[in-house]
Amino acid sequence: MSRVVDALLTTDPPQRLRLVQAGLAMLVMAAGVAAMHYFVWVGVAPARPVALWSALTLVGMGVFFVLIRSGGSSLWPEPSLTVPQMLFALTSGAVAYMLLGAGRGAVFPVVMVILMFGMFVVTPQQMRWLSVYAVLLFGAAMAFMAVNNPSAYPLAIEVGHFLLVATMMPAMSMLAARLSRMRHRSRLQRAELAQALARLREHTTRDELTGLVNKRHMQELMEQEHQRCIRSGQSFCLGVMDIDRFKPVNEAHGYTVGDAVLRAVAQEALRHVRLSDMLCRWGGEEFLLMMSDTRAALARSGLERLHQKVGALRILHGTAAVGITLSAGLAEHHAGETVAQTLERAERALLEAKAQGRDRVVVAA
Ligand code: GH3
Ligand code: MG
Ligand code: MG
Repeated sequence: MSRVVDALLTTDPPQRLRLVQAGLAMLVMAAGVAAMHYFVWVGVAPARPVALWSALTLVGMGVFFVLIRSGGSSLWPEPSLTVPQMLFALTSGAVAYMLLGAGRGAVFPVVMVILMFGMFVVTPQQMRWLSVYAVLLFGAAMAFMAVNNPSAYPLAIEVGHFLLVATMMPAMSMLAARLSRMRHRSRLQRAELAQALARLREHTTRDELTGLVNKRHMQELMEQEHQRCIRSGQSFCLGVMDIDRFKPVNEAHGYTVGDAVLRAVAQEALRHVRLSDMLCRWGGEEFLLMMSDTRAALARSGLERLHQKVGALRILHGTAAVGITLSAGLAEHHAGETVAQTLERAERALLEAKAQGRDRVVVAA
């Protein structure tokens, strides 16, 4: 059943919405056709003209559905064809009014429903023109019938009907304008909310000073990588880096310069990692690099390169140029190990690098 519906209405959301709307409009008009036949049955409306009217109305609505379904309507500025559908349905309603005689009051609720369809889709300006069209069209139909068939359409009654239509239509377009403003406001609010969420996300996953991924988010990413490796049987590496003798840098130049150095180190390191690697500010002057789908040998050369590039960096401060070195510990994840265990081996390798005299990369056993 749902496959038949999908085939008829497609699975593309905007297209489906258009087709659902055109389908509903077709059902409303089909109900109108049924009502017309009721009036034929009770002897109020003429059979042959109503049969012709019914055929034209149903074929017309069917053509709109086919135009939308085939994609032909996408050449039109408004692919839902709402305005042409409404013009067609209003015209059909005016003809029904002329055929129905004593039963013509039944046309009014149908016309209201037709206009309500548009309220959710068309612009306030389009709605104004549609209601002007409806007033003129029904005015002409009423005048025509009052002149040509005054016994069934007495002038006094037609004037009353016209006044009703002429006051209800502007009210309808006012409501449409309000609805359109509400739609616009809620669209804006949705956009603002999405922006705020993105900012919040940025805030919770990034380190403010360097713009790198923060520790909390990195822990999630490492866990994800770990799970991926369990499934794929691949391996990843963790490199822990710590700036050598950073405290003296702060003491000599001040914390502002220290911060600038941290930022510069982060930017430089970021330039030398692969797209698939993830660099994070692990804490104070420590950075953590996760290298996905990589064995120790390759990771080592990557980390050595990074170590060398950062070591060559000079951060200008007044007339002085501040340079720093890095010590790094590298560990390849072993099957069966937890992330924390791999990290611990990398940290021990880092301590070893410090112990060996700093400014070097040590690979964990
Ligand atoms: P080593 O690692 O080589 O043993 O020496 P170190 O001086 O780098 O080691 P230690 O861990 O004792 O000092 C780290 C210093 O990093 C302490 C603090 O002054 C500095 N630091 C940590 N976070 C920040 C920060 O956000 N901004 C600045 N400017 N300095 C920071
Ligand atoms: Mg440290
Ligand atoms: Mg340090």
